[in-house]
Amino acid sequence: MSDEIYDIVIIGSGPGGYVSAIRSSQLGLKTAIIEKNNNLGGTCLNTGCIPSKCLLDSTKYFFLSKKIFKKHGIFFKDLYYDFIKMMDRKDKIINNINNGIKYLMKKNKIDVYKGIGQFKGKNTLSILNESSFIEKKNIKFKNCIISTGSKPLKLDNINFEKRIISSTELLNIKEIPNNLLIIGGGVIGIELGSIFNRLGTKVSIIDNTDTIISNMDISIINEIKKILNKYSIDIYTSLYVKSIINSDDEDNVLLSCKNSFGDIISLKGDYCLVSIGRKPQTKHLDIDKIGIKHDKNGFIIVDNYLKTTVNNIYAIGDVIGGKMLAHKAEEEGLYVVENIIGKKPSLPNYNIIPSIIYSYPEIASVGYTEDEVKRKKIEYNKGIFPMKALGRAISSGCTEGFLKMISNKNTDEILGVHIVGEHASEMIMEAAVAMEFRASSEDIYRICHPHPTFSESFKESALLNFENKSIHI
Ligand SMILES: Cc1cc2nc3c(=O)[nH]c(=O)nc-3n(C[C@H](O)[C@H](O)[C@H](O)COP(=O)(O)OP(=O)(O)OC[C@H]3O[C@@H](n4cnc5c(N)ncnc54)[C@H](O)[C@@H]3O)c2cc1C
Repeated sequence: MSDEIYDIVIIGSGPGGYVSAIRSSQLGLKTAIIEKNNNLGGTCLNTGCIPSKCLLDSTKYFFLSKKIFKKHGIFFKDLYYDFIKMMDRKDKIINNINNGIKYLMKKNKIDVYKGIGQFKGKNTLSILNESSFIEKKNIKFKNCIISTGSKPLKLDNINFEKRIISSTELLNIKEIPNNLLIIGGGVIGIELGSIFNRLGTKVSIIDNTDTIISNMDISIINEIKKILNKYSIDIYTSLYVKSIINSDDEDNVLLSCKNSFGDIISLKGDYCLVSIGRKPQTKHLDIDKIGIKHDKNGFIIVDNYLKTTVNNIYAIGDVIGGKMLAHKAEEEGLYVVENIIGKKPSLPNYNIIPSIIYSYPEIASVGYTEDEVKRKKIEYNKGIFPMKALGRAISSGCTEGFLKMISNKNTDEILGVHIVGEHASEMIMEAAVAMEFRASSEDIYRICHPHPTFSESFKESALLNFENKSIHI
């Protein structure tokens, strides 16, 4: 038994874990992190945000060169892509960022233990070998943060094998599918579908609900359907997948589905991506042994301080559910560490966590959707300003989309902002800052916005909200 006692030990080195570790060490706490994978960075760096954004950007440049640049008077003679180079670039980027995180661990004097973290007691963790499960070491802690993330959910326990794949396999695929069936019309399905659609794959998205991205604002849902349709991505809603079969002798996968009328519909593709959600990763932790409770889906239960049912053990990020996003995990980690040291930070504001879909154009959203304000019986105003009325959008040729602002009819406080448009992922922060400071739409209208920029759509929507007028429409 080692006699080291850490102030904080963090299990899992995803964005929740490694960011917490850095902040903990910055604040003077003796910190260690345990990671079972060879690479640090978790899902986000290795199989999620970063690889998907690498490929989304590479394929966007190809798509723009092929379809859009000619409008700007730019022509290519022999335009082509090299898929192996694209994938290689992605892998190199992951490797570089991984080295960056390693460097940050060293710089901040954080002890990194490679292996599976498993609770031995309320103050002790074993570190097991990842393949033999043999105990390598024990470490002691005053506080622990569980940040073990999540894994792709299987459909009715159909294993990911051969041509039935999860996002992890698709992001590492060696060949470009001809016909990709995607089960699940959420963010991951749309983003990964867009990547391969731009490379020439026939993409079909299948969802068992009556819509796609059901948690987003209705105006966004309608716009994204139009955009996917324009790119010839098929969307099948209210279609329930009954079975998926990897065909043995042919290189394809067969889906048998039932629609809302009870008709059986068969779909054939050469790969099937199952992206129906993710489940918490708590295997091997032995949380039950020390009294850490979880819900029926396995998500660890925490209180308002993100404390588990054991007093000195906290949990953050995907493993506790809610919005499964890297920045939510980071925010929670920073909150827990600062709370442990007594800085009394305010709780993460869960209503102001921006969500983004990196489609083309991008989609970004923060705060209440129109349906939510209706359900809450809040009287509201809404201003929808189309990008096509903006000088910057017209000059750059990116006129698709709009900015929709929802504000309280009585107080004028901004309650939600939903954007479809170029640079939406960067623009959404203006809305988040405004909402965090409880700004009104009049406040935004009265702030000078630079011209010509896409951000002028904020000022225009704000004027629509507060006076039902706009300068450019
Ligand atoms: C395809 C895809 C694209 C995505 N794109 C985005 C995006 O653009 N923006 C965004 O915000 N989010 C995105 N996400 C979601 C994002 O990746 C997650 O929300 C985020 O990684 C969660 O962080 P985390 O720290 O909770 O867990 P994770 O990143 O999952 O990290 C958990 C870590 O814990 C380790 N671990 C687990 N159990 C143990 C154990 N017992 N012992 C030791 N180590 C253990 C795991 O190996 C892993 O490294 C995407 C996800 C996917 C799949």
